Amino acid sequence: MDIKKLETWYVQNHRKLVFRESRNPYHIWVSEVMLQQTQVDTVLPYFSKFIIKYPTVSDLAKASEEDLHKTVEGLGYYRRFRLMQQAAQKIISEYQGIFPKTYDEVRSLPGVGAYTAGAIMSIAYNQPYSATDGNVIRVISRYLGDDQDMGLEKNKKRIDAYQQSMIEKATPWIYTQAIMELGALICRPRQPKCELCPLQEHCLAYAQGSQNELPIITKQTKTKTYQYITLIIEDHDAYYLRKRHEELLKGMYEYPQFEGESVYTVLSELESQGIFLDLNEDKSIYKHVFSHQTWLMDVYHAQLIKGIHPDWIRIDKHDFMTYPMAIAHRKIKR
Ligand code: SF4
Repeated sequence: MDIKKLETWYVQNHRKLVFRESRNPYHIWVSEVMLQQTQVDTVLPYFSKFIIKYPTVSDLAKASEEDLHKTVEGLGYYRRFRLMQQAAQKIISEYQGIFPKTYDEVRSLPGVGAYTAGAIMSIAYNQPYSATDGNVIRVISRYLGDDQDMGLEKNKKRIDAYQQSMIEKATPWIYTQAIMELGALICRPRQPKCELCPLQEHCLAYAQGSQNELPIITKQTKTKTYQYITLIIEDHDAYYLRKRHEELLKGMYEYPQFEGESVYTVLSELESQGIFLDLNEDKSIYKHVFSHQTWLMDVYHAQLIKGIHPDWIRIDKHDFMTYPMAIAHRKIKR
């Protein structure tokens, strides 16, 4: 690969993203965690807000779970932020609050995988550690004309080994960002702009005209669909919400929700627990797609007449927006 051409292209053409203007390992870590599964444009305002709110690792370590969830509400995949806070606490207790500087130490932080560790080591410390994500796999598999299934771990490893051999010859902090930026701006998933690409001269996919077919990725995961009855329960000036304990969206608030298709089954189950609702039978239907599951929700409004479920929390309507809530429920019209 013509590394010099790639690096020069990056220096001259990269977007001035707020988190790409920093070599601070904390900033790079925060941005890389936010960018997992989330678009750059979505991340930008969250990143700025996050850094103002938690300017140091120590501020993040001390944040309340509620406050942290509220700060990242809307980004999804909230487990990554809980792990991030655990990592911040580890940095305080084991590294005196100073961000670790070796690969093994960075990799040992909760939630930090090989990709994130590689990004931090190369961008913040200019060390030759590869950071191979989906974008990089796309660029390199096209460049090498590799038509193997990139859904398989052994093939991803081969691409990562190539990427590692490249970064060892490069200026790591520029190379990592350059190949990420090339994947975002030029070697895009659809209709790559090969005519503007600094790697075009030796790109095999371009030579063979196969750039739109590569990479080949067969999906390894199956998604599951759940049918829920979701209740917006009012009680004078308040709603009842539940704080999730499940791994998905743990710590986020939601409307009481029950797996099943019949609201009447839910009502009679609640009545058997001494909870009585006055139901408005007009329902609205919502759908939310997560990476591994889909929620189909029949949403009903109801007034509480009597009783209270031990899991429900009474929340004043004025305070409703201050509680962290997953978009799956935040988007439901009250
Ligand atoms: S020439 Fe086209 S396919 Fe090859 S790396 Fe560049 S943008 Fe991607």
